[in-house]
Parts: sequence; C-alpha cells; structure tokens
Amino acid sequence: MRTFAAAGWLPLLDPRSPAPIIRERKMDQLAGRHVTFYKDGDTLGYETVDAEVAAFAQNHISLEGPELNFVYFSQVDEFGHKYGALDDPYFDALGRVDQLVKNLHEVIEDRVKNFGEEWIVLITTDHGHLDEGGHGGDSDQERSSFLIAYGVGRENPQWEAPIAQHQISQIILHSMSTLTT
Ligand SMILES: [Zn+2]
Repeated sequence: MRTFAAAGWLPLLDPRSPAPIIRERKMDQLAGRHVTFYKDGDTLGYETVDAEVAAFAQNHISLEGPELNFVYFSQVDEFGHKYGALDDPYFDALGRVDQLVKNLHEVIEDRVKNFGEEWIVLITTDHGHLDEGGHGGDSDQERSSFLIAYGVGRENPQWEAPIAQHQISQIILHSMSTLTT
C-alpha cells in the first residue's frame, strides 16, 4: 500500500519532534511507498502552511493517487484556540479550509472520473472545544468530535454512530479492504 501524509503541525510528522504521531517509516520512504510533507505552522503561520500543504497534497494525490492519505489543516484549530468558536476569525478560518477541502475533493473526483477509482473521504477534528476556546476538561463538548464519511465513486459508508476514537482506524482499514480497486 502507498501512503501519504501532509501537515503544518510538526508533532504529526517531523522526525525531529519527540515521537512524531505518524511514524517516519524511512525504508518505505526510500522505496517510494510513503511520502510526507510537513511545515512549521508555529513559525511560518498556519494560514500560510495550510495553503502549502493543500498545494502539495493536490499535486501528489492527483499524480500518484496513494491508497491511504492523511491531510491535516491547522488553522481552524489555531483560530479556535485563540479566539474561541463563536467569533469571526474562527468562521473565516473555516471558510478558508472549506475551500482547501473543496479543491482536494475536485482532485479526487477527477481520479474517480479518469481511473474509475473508489474513494472514502473522512473529515474530522483533532479534538472538541469550549465555545470560548480551550479544551482539556472532561465535558462532552471538549471530548466529542464529528466524523464525516462519504464515498466518491462508491456508496457512502454505513457506519453506526457513535464511534469511539480508538475504533476509527480499524473501521477505516476494514472499509478499505472492501474496496474493489
Ligand atoms: Zn487544538
């Protein structure tokens, strides 16, 4: 399986950060089976790195179409922490990321059209949040998130809610094993 991961938040991917969350898999990278792209949003600004992550991801997915892809946009999280979830900066960040997601979606639709592939697109957040900003407590609002799952070139997956975080990767891999391409 060929895999791809892109993010503007270093702890996810940078091998120099303490234990990157997504394994480096150097041998797979050398063999071209695993490609990563990461930028330091803390230093360069999250709006900037999100655009770079999106551009790289669009290009790579369009040309290579790896079987499993992970793309993380940082600015919604960043603005949510800074300004809370009920203010214009947060909604503006949502709007910008919506556009980046739309562009990626078009790349996937093109692959489906050109190569007859079947894709499942999943969208989620890294954590829940208080309206005023901040998390880490025990409330439902902070500990819950959403998971959007839809098919491109195939039916939408039918998953029973609620899904606990520890179940997600298993569910995704099971769905992939039922894809025909
Ligand atoms: Zn956060």
